[in-house]
Amino acid sequence: MTLDLSPVSADSLPQFAPVPESSLGPAVNEQGYYVGQIDGNLYWVTDGVYQCGFLTTPEGVILLDAPATLGHNIQRAIDEIAHANDASNKVRYLIHSHHHADHGNASSLFGTDVVRIAHEETRRLMLRDNDPNRPAPDETFQDSRTLEIGGEHIELGWHGSSHSPDTSYIYLPNHDTLMLVDVINVGWVPIYSLNLAVDVPGYIAAPGIALEYEWSHLISGHMGRLGSRDDVALHQQFIGEIVDNLREVFTTFDPTVYYQSYWPNMWASVAGHLDDVARRACAPLAAKYAGRIAAVDIDSFVLSTAIWILESMRLDLGLGIQVHA
Ligand SMILES: [Zn+2]
Ligand SMILES: [Zn+2]
Repeated sequence: MTLDLSPVSADSLPQFAPVPESSLGPAVNEQGYYVGQIDGNLYWVTDGVYQCGFLTTPEGVILLDAPATLGHNIQRAIDEIAHANDASNKVRYLIHSHHHADHGNASSLFGTDVVRIAHEETRRLMLRDNDPNRPAPDETFQDSRTLEIGGEHIELGWHGSSHSPDTSYIYLPNHDTLMLVDVINVGWVPIYSLNLAVDVPGYIAAPGIALEYEWSHLISGHMGRLGSRDDVALHQQFIGEIVDNLREVFTTFDPTVYYQSYWPNMWASVAGHLDDVARRACAPLAAKYAGRIAAVDIDSFVLSTAIWILESMRLDLGLGIQVHA
């Protein structure tokens, strides 16, 4: 048997609801990026899917993440701003939000004369993954660290694992801005399995921790625009509703038919049962969030997210886990 590598015809593709205007950001330029001022000398760059930030300072540029899709456009964006403001365009510092390649693999473009800073677990994981595009940070922190660079005050925080074990909070209090990546996809649903969260209770708690900081602008790493506190609240409402619906369906719906009919194929029983719970829990979401959150009708993201939360409710919280008499 050979693998099916045949092309897909455009006519056979499923159709989805239009993306709400509010989920999209500013238009990108010819080179495929947009750079905008957040506050003073703090800027952000996006290609419509990924985001990073940077500060121009008398000691050079402090870059916040280096997404691979932005690549050389990061320096182009910095050049544009530095030129307009007569500031240095040389990246001297790079702070990573976490260890993932997609948010960090433009790092090596900035050479070796850069101080890379991140959580100590980011360093450990980058050393493990040994990717030449993503040199491990030289400077690390554990729970918190305050950086004073070029007149900037930057507070790094780690509040437990969530999306990844090393997900960090990068707080710029003098710019009214927080950077927290891969937790809230501003205006969009999480991708597969709750944005690939390695720790579901940690991921669900993260937006609340973010709101404990004082800020007006969120650099969320995705998608095309900055986030507001309302965006975080909408994300919390959406996830909270999945949690509530899952609990209600899981604790009241009778799955006996799956276990009787499929015996002794226990995996067919479990898959049939849990998939059904996820489907029923998510069924009201598309209509309820239409026009407010994009891609809420993409089942592969929303249902896998519900399954991942349901497994965490069972395994982390013990819901429905019964000790044999
Ligand atoms: Zn990530
Ligand atoms: Zn991401």
